[in-house]
Amino acid sequence: ESLDKGLEKSKTSFFSKLSKAVAGKTKVDDGVLDNLEEILISSDVGVNTTLKIIERIEERVAKDKYLGTDELNKILREEIAALLAETNVGNETDFVIPTDKKPYIIMVVGVNGVGKTTTIGKLAAQFTKNGKKVVLGAADTFRAAAIDQLQVWADRVGVPIVRQEMGSDPASVAFDTLKSAVSQNADVVIIDTAGRLHNKVNLMNELTKIKRVMQKVVVDAPHEVLLVLDGSTGQNAFEQAKQFTKATEVTSLAVTKLDGTAKGGVVIGISDQFQIPVKYIGVGEKIDDLQVFNKIEFVDSFFN
Ligand code: GDP
Repeated sequence: ESLDKGLEKSKTSFFSKLSKAVAGKTKVDDGVLDNLEEILISSDVGVNTTLKIIERIEERVAKDKYLGTDELNKILREEIAALLAETNVGNETDFVIPTDKKPYIIMVVGVNGVGKTTTIGKLAAQFTKNGKKVVLGAADTFRAAAIDQLQVWADRVGVPIVRQEMGSDPASVAFDTLKSAVSQNADVVIIDTAGRLHNKVNLMNELTKIKRVMQKVVVDAPHEVLLVLDGSTGQNAFEQAKQFTKATEVTSLAVTKLDGTAKGGVVIGISDQFQIPVKYIGVGEKIDDLQVFNKIEFVDSFFN
């Protein structure tokens, strides 16, 4: 229910455009396909993924020359679900973490302003709600505000945070955080990192160093590298995904701000282009406004 509410804008705009594109038509012809291509691109699905979808629809049109426009919805829905299925388990409904890693270590990356801190706070709240002991690490030491903001979330959720002064070595903060988490027998560690993209080599070096130092405490750390992307920024989100996947091995995605955008298509394009599962979606600023991404619900919210 809240997913539908959160994604209302994407839904309305995708749907009203699609309905207009097929209005008065009884079969899917080149005109409909051209329109569909435009709609998908303007919904930020991305050019490559759009072309892939169009190609798949064309194949089906070729098979059935009189493919009706009524069926277009159904087929589109199937093809989009299939694309998402290639990268997403998509059947998770709760904030579960693997129990064979204790503590389970999540390193969070992303540029400033995308909702990184908020997502960490929301995740901490969900894991705590599920009875997990969470420790936060403020390894974005580049900005004082980042540390303070993470502290605000830690206080709000009631979880411990490990921090040092601004300007201190992020790897040292990460090291301390893991030490502390292990000694407290914590279940989950969430490490915030600085998201400076202006210098790719620095970014890569910094993330590599953080990982290496964490591995002195827990050999296979981090267990997850979660990239946070702002879903309302369309092509910027694609570009950031490209940069971060070059700098480090990103294993999952959180796409934020899908409540305030008509561009939810970015979820489809990014998971397809980068073959990384979208694990969480942000649908508001409040503590509960984070959802486990579920491909069935997502596709339904687009097409129902
Ligand atoms: P950071 O710099 O990446 O750590 O970003 P913040 O977590 O500070 O978030 C930046 C702004 O985006 C804040 O005003 C947040 O409240 C807001 N924000 C984060 N996630 C969402 C979301 O899913 N929806 C909306 N509408 N706002 C969000």
